[in-house]
Amino acid sequence: MFCPECKAEYVEGIKVCADCDVPLVDKLPEEKELPPKPPYKQLKAFFTSAEIAIIKSILDDAKIDYYFRGERFQTMHVPLVDPAILMIRGDQFEAAKKLLEELE
Ligand SMILES: [Zn+2]
Repeated sequence: MFCPECKAEYVEGIKVCADCDVPLVDKLPEEKELPPKPPYKQLKAFFTSAEIAIIKSILDDAKIDYYFRGERFQTMHVPLVDPAILMIRGDQFEAAKKLLEELE
């Protein structure tokens, strides 16, 4: 028997955790281990929202995991003060790079 709060193990027959005053459970819920995230790699810098919008639709279509670092919401066609850096998930980096090369 286990306490779901403090995770202490108790012998059979005990029903409540002495410390936490909560009912014991047969098994602790398994802690889900998230698979480690592959690191994102920097692919390219973009300076206009229009470009970013195009890139987004292409990457979305290709189901590529990405995000823009430093993206600001600005009006279309107004140059960004700082570039938005396109970050691609490591294992999809080559695929994304190819897509962008085809575009150019
Ligand atoms: Zn407890």
